[in-house]
Amino acid sequence: MPPSVRRAIRGVLTDIDDTLTTKGVLPTVAEAALARLAAANMPAVAITGRPVGLCDDLLARWPLAAIVGENGGVYLCRDGDGRIVEHYEQPADERARQRERLHAIAAWIVREVPGAALAVDRFRRETDVAIDWAENVNPLPQTAVERIVAMLKAEGLSTAVSSIHVHGWYGKHDKLSATRALYQVRFGIDLAREREHYIYVGDAPNDAPMFAFFPNSVGVANIARFLDRIDTPPAYITQRLAGEGFAELVELLLPT
Ligand SMILES: [Mg+2]
Repeated sequence: MPPSVRRAIRGVLTDIDDTLTTKGVLPTVAEAALARLAAANMPAVAITGRPVGLCDDLLARWPLAAIVGENGGVYLCRDGDGRIVEHYEQPADERARQRERLHAIAAWIVREVPGAALAVDRFRRETDVAIDWAENVNPLPQTAVERIVAMLKAEGLSTAVSSIHVHGWYGKHDKLSATRALYQVRFGIDLAREREHYIYVGDAPNDAPMFAFFPNSVGVANIARFLDRIDTPPAYITQRLAGEGFAELVELLLPT
């Protein structure tokens, strides 16, 4: 990443699982990197497939400016009094109508696909279903992951595959659309016009819309195993894995 690109960066947007975290844990170096970004007055924004229930907890504990959750179904930030507020892509009555159908689809998939399970992070997962393919189950083969995606699509759902879960939801939103809405509504920033000033860092196919949008996107080294499934790969790839790779990026932006 040339120095001219680095100097123009105003903010870092990051995936969470296997980008900030390593094997499900936030390593000390990544925690320190988040703190350094916040201290430099550019707190990171996290964009994840995790449910709103977990996002709420992470935003309370980590030095982040905001979180986009459920692959774009919701974003969370703080209001003027410092309270965490949630903004959903779809109104509450519509989400309530969808939820029963989403649960039925998830139950059907878990019955049909050997080895698949409901993702354990079900506390306040409001807008999507998450099928575990590699978090707390023995990793499923690529053919099984593709079968789950096809089953979700056959039910009319949008889909995304992270390094651990397959997600399905009603509507056309994704990580990118919710992130652009968050920046426009909450920060008054039109990312389409200023995208070269922001870095997105991720590790998996569900980060693809972000890699395609941000010219200065970054993959952590473990993205290598998914590069054949991402149409527009990230412009830069770190040398280190997951949370250590995130820390490497922050060290490049804010040298100690
Ligand atoms: Mg990830």
